[in-house]
Amino acid sequence: MTTQGSLLPAEDDAPTAQVRRPKNVAELDPPSRLLLGPGPSPVHPRVMRAMAAPPLGHLDPALLELLADTSGLLRGVFRTSNEATLAVSGTGMAGMEAVLGSLLEPGDGLVVCAAGFFGQRIAELASRIGAAVTKVEKEWGQVFTREEVEAAVAAAQPKAVAIVHAETSTGALQPMGGLGEIAHRHGALLVADCVTSLGGVPVEIDGWGVDAAYSGSQKCLGGPSGMSPVTLSPRAREAIKARTRPAHAWYLDLELLQRYWNGDHAYHHTISSPLVYALREGLRLVVEERLEARFERHQRNAEALWVGLEAMGLALHVAAAHRIPSLTTVRVPEGVDEAQVRTRLRDDYGIEIGAGLGPLKGKVWRIGLMGHGSQKSNVLLLLAALADLLRKR
Ligand SMILES: *Cc1c(COP(=O)(O)O)cnc(C)c1O
Repeated sequence: MTTQGSLLPAEDDAPTAQVRRPKNVAELDPPSRLLLGPGPSPVHPRVMRAMAAPPLGHLDPALLELLADTSGLLRGVFRTSNEATLAVSGTGMAGMEAVLGSLLEPGDGLVVCAAGFFGQRIAELASRIGAAVTKVEKEWGQVFTREEVEAAVAAAQPKAVAIVHAETSTGALQPMGGLGEIAHRHGALLVADCVTSLGGVPVEIDGWGVDAAYSGSQKCLGGPSGMSPVTLSPRAREAIKARTRPAHAWYLDLELLQRYWNGDHAYHHTISSPLVYALREGLRLVVEERLEARFERHQRNAEALWVGLEAMGLALHVAAAHRIPSLTTVRVPEGVDEAQVRTRLRDDYGIEIGAGLGPLKGKVWRIGLMGHGSQKSNVLLLLAALADLLRKR
């Protein structure tokens, strides 16, 4: 209800005293933060500028041209020739849901290799779809061997096997070589979560034989969250076409989305053009830097961070051979209030880092050096701030 002559709600219309009245809402002025957590990561200024361009209609030929550019750039970054390469409107979880919901029907078998929070999520989400999930678990921070994956797939004979390439909850990087061959030999599809790896760590969709992969715009691709790149192999698309029922969720139906992105462009949803601009510009930056140089930058800055943390007497959670260059887990020293350190980093230094999840809650901090955030200056600033806080306590 509005009072006459005003579009603002009358004072006594407010249901509770806590409800903010429009007149109290100040112009947007978010605090400045250096985002060195598990995501989102700092957004490159060129991506920020791209987002400020005026929106376009979702069927405008100019926007469709930008989608085609984006698909092409994504194929390059995913290292695939898959025609079905696009971005789902939504965050990384939307990509996970789109891939699993498009591939799996109720009753379909799925082996999930879970050694962390996101592996567990894949299993949970697939169960909701009605898939028959076989979960293979390992301690958080470990990775799976080819033999372990093969044994699970041979025993369960599933429709697909899913694995997290870079497990953001633990900091462990899963070796992917040979997994596609194993899955295919047993008639299964290989699904990979590449949310924290794409654009920061080598990803070889075709080389590894991955049939379906998803990522997110806000980790190593240097954009804001809101777009989830997805790619499907011809084999995955055949499996989708052979479904007896339509995909789990209409909005996340990858065949409908492929039609909109790369087919006859039939209206599916009103894609957010600023987010398309952002993803396209983020991908242009990746290609401009060159993938090899970008991976090398992520590796070099991560190694500097690891050396610095160890020099401070801190222990890294993951064995050197399996660390993700874009996400480091460092153990919280005995007697330190981990939450207080994160709060002080944020309030005194404007730096965000992440807390541990699940069994690692309270035990590790998670430090992301992703995309535009992977800079030597950021490593030095974080190390100095952390050393200062740990010395002062
Ligand atoms: C961040 C992340 C997700 C989820 O992405 P959202 O953008 O938060 O929805 C999934 N998997 C992994 C490995 C991630 O790091």
